[in-house]
Amino acid sequence: MDKIMQSRLDRGFLKHQKEYEDKALEVLRSGWYILGKEVENFETEFAEYVGTKYAVGLASGLDALWLAFRVLGIGKGDEVIVQGNTYIASVMGITINDATPVFVEPDEYYQIDVSKIEEKITDKTKAILVVHLYGQAAQMSKVRELCDKYNLKLVEDCAQSHGACFDGKMTGSFGDVGCFSFYPSKNMGAFGDAGAVTTNDEELAKLFKIYRNYGSEKRYHNMVVGANSRLDEMQAGLLRVRLKYIKEITEERTALAEHYAEGICNEYVIKPSVRESATSVWHQYVLRIPEHRDEFKKYLEDNNIMTICHYPIPPHLSQAYEYLGLKEGVLPITEKYAQEVLSLPIYAGMTKEEQDYVISTINAFSL
Ligand SMILES: *Cc1c(COP(=O)(O)O)cnc(C)c1O
Repeated sequence: MDKIMQSRLDRGFLKHQKEYEDKALEVLRSGWYILGKEVENFETEFAEYVGTKYAVGLASGLDALWLAFRVLGIGKGDEVIVQGNTYIASVMGITINDATPVFVEPDEYYQIDVSKIEEKITDKTKAILVVHLYGQAAQMSKVRELCDKYNLKLVEDCAQSHGACFDGKMTGSFGDVGCFSFYPSKNMGAFGDAGAVTTNDEELAKLFKIYRNYGSEKRYHNMVVGANSRLDEMQAGLLRVRLKYIKEITEERTALAEHYAEGICNEYVIKPSVRESATSVWHQYVLRIPEHRDEFKKYLEDNNIMTICHYPIPPHLSQAYEYLGLKEGVLPITEKYAQEVLSLPIYAGMTKEEQDYVISTINAFSL
């Protein structure tokens, strides 16, 4: 068996190669490369998909996050609640604005533990940032209730959850702002960096368009200190093709996850589960190996199976956030998960042979 990568992007491209290539040529030949009809059409189509009134294309998922807090007026002296076990970009979206992240432990589904949010709310709390980690929607009815009760803004990090739903409603449509990344390895990947925000608020949508273009609506009339965070025509065009197949992509990943769930059986391994009322789009299929995770990872590698830990160092223990003064032990569940999680290979175009080989190798593991 050839080496099985944790993720690979070529097979998803090859599946609809002609359409991607035709679109790329169309954009190249159009002579128009920044903020044109591809971006406009993508924004309309993506908003319709998520179920919001507006979507605004941006340059990355991190830009979506930090610009969300910027347009919501959240900054110095403000606190934002976020789960401890997330990709560091979620936290940077808060701290780029000089606001302070307040971490909450995850639940058994690796989502923010909604029973532990209320105790963290202070009079400085301005927002909750929900991360739908690994592709599973968080418990949104409870989060919505808390935001309403305490008058907090709700921002969703949907970088891993394109298409995931809670109570039949899509992630990215619950909050004031939904933040999306289209980094190539995400479920809905571009062919370079790209991102977007979704919102039902016309004023916020307008602000995002101003901020992404140096703070100007009208050329050379700069209203605020903005950014250069435009989604380009090439990525927007290619994303329109990807969006046509997002249902197929989600179905394929769901089938792969089901096959793992049925096939994997090893006493050292805890498989992921999905909350009632929630769906997962299986951005990652994350096992927990409470003991000997690193031996398990090495064993798979020795058998040509590549895995990744998402994430080995929780943000509050990273060097970047030393200044917050949070020491090891303050988030025991987050820290424990960092030692135990392991993401298996999962990607569009993964063959049955590849997956069966991963399953039988896992099942044969012992110490
Ligand atoms: C990928 C990711 C981001 C950042 O997206 P970029 O497009 O790489 O900036 C943010 N949050 C989460 C949870 C992610 O997985």
